[in-house]
Amino acid sequence: MTTPAYASDALAEGTVDAVVIGGGAAGLNGALILARSRRSVVVIDSGSPRNAPAEAVHGLLALDGTPPSEILRRGREQVRQYGGRVVSGEVVSAESAAPSEDGDLRFTVTLADGRRMTARRVLVATGLKDVLPEVPGLAEHWGHRVVHCPYCHGWEVRDEPIGILATGPASIGHAYLFRQLTEDLTYFTHTTDLDQDSRARFAARGIRIIDTPVTEVVDDEDGALAGVRLADGQVVARRVLAVAAPVQARTKGLEGLGLPVQELPGKGRGFASGLAGSTEVPGVWVAGNVTDLVAQVGASAAAGALAGADINRMLAIADTDAALQKTAEASPQGATG
Ligand SMILES: Cc1cc2nc3c(=O)[nH]c(=O)nc-3n(C[C@H](O)[C@H](O)[C@H](O)COP(=O)(O)OP(=O)(O)OC[C@H]3O[C@@H](n4cnc5c(N)ncnc54)[C@H](O)[C@@H]3O)c2cc1C
Repeated sequence: MTTPAYASDALAEGTVDAVVIGGGAAGLNGALILARSRRSVVVIDSGSPRNAPAEAVHGLLALDGTPPSEILRRGREQVRQYGGRVVSGEVVSAESAAPSEDGDLRFTVTLADGRRMTARRVLVATGLKDVLPEVPGLAEHWGHRVVHCPYCHGWEVRDEPIGILATGPASIGHAYLFRQLTEDLTYFTHTTDLDQDSRARFAARGIRIIDTPVTEVVDDEDGALAGVRLADGQVVARRVLAVAAPVQARTKGLEGLGLPVQELPGKGRGFASGLAGSTEVPGVWVAGNVTDLVAQVGASAAAGALAGADINRMLAIADTDAALQKTAEASPQGATG
């Protein structure tokens, strides 16, 4: 799913201070900090943020209830207000290039339409993809009546007949969180195992368990989610399904940066990061869901801001190194004398 199209800025000529790959909460907040630090920054964004299907962002202080597209629209506007550029496009390759004459790092980024640009530093904020179980009819309701996050849309589905469509052990904890929101909860083990201790605990909380696999999601005549059909043909009425779907960071096209992809906390793989989104690859930072699989919008934006500040800090050191080198070259006998 993509967000409504927005006007794209032109790609910058020459070398910019930073390119941000991905213009969601993480990338835009990183760009905002960089632009406000008087850094030339270009955000390249393919326009499909993870929460695009959702009607509103919830649990985000002061912005609770705001549509995701509106938050991003304001974010792009604010980045532009300080001279940053937001370019619509998909990065298909990113790699380090020959350093500048004074030894500073350089990276080349190529877009799907063949355009290229060069930057001194890179912030990767491409987010992640939720990998839904292959149950016919499930994907159509994703982000509306098929939900994953009790903090994002739990309040909106409170007291409804909810089904947990299990994907593995993570669904057990998920069930307790949704039980907090409704007394009418059914746990479909589907293709997973459920241990005896959990069965006893579910019984104690009044959570019904169904072990017959789910074959499809059933809609009512208005197209609203009405339940699930089981392998024995029985239909179990449910208005909402909660799925702890595995996730996969969006790393395609970024292989050339040399960032290792590894198992991260939160049921999936992504780019590992250190303090302020720094990575083991000099000149490359990561922020948001691409490195923190459980980050919501606020945490992703905060991570982008931290990374942006760290990039600016490192650029300031590089600028000073270059100035010192120039001074030494201009006065080889000793610039300090
Ligand atoms: C259905 C749903 C509802 C949610 N609701 C909430 C909620 O209510 N509250 C909340 O706090 N969180 C919510 N979340 C979580 C929220 O979506 C994430 O926390 C947030 O989107 C992470 O921000 P991000 O910037 O890391 O990634 P994203 O928002 O996914 O942004 C990444 C951007 O990078 C772009 N991109 C990817 N690859 C490339 C490439 N190669 N080249 C160029 N651009 C690229 C994408 O198009 C996208 O625009 C929800 C998630 C889902 C799935």
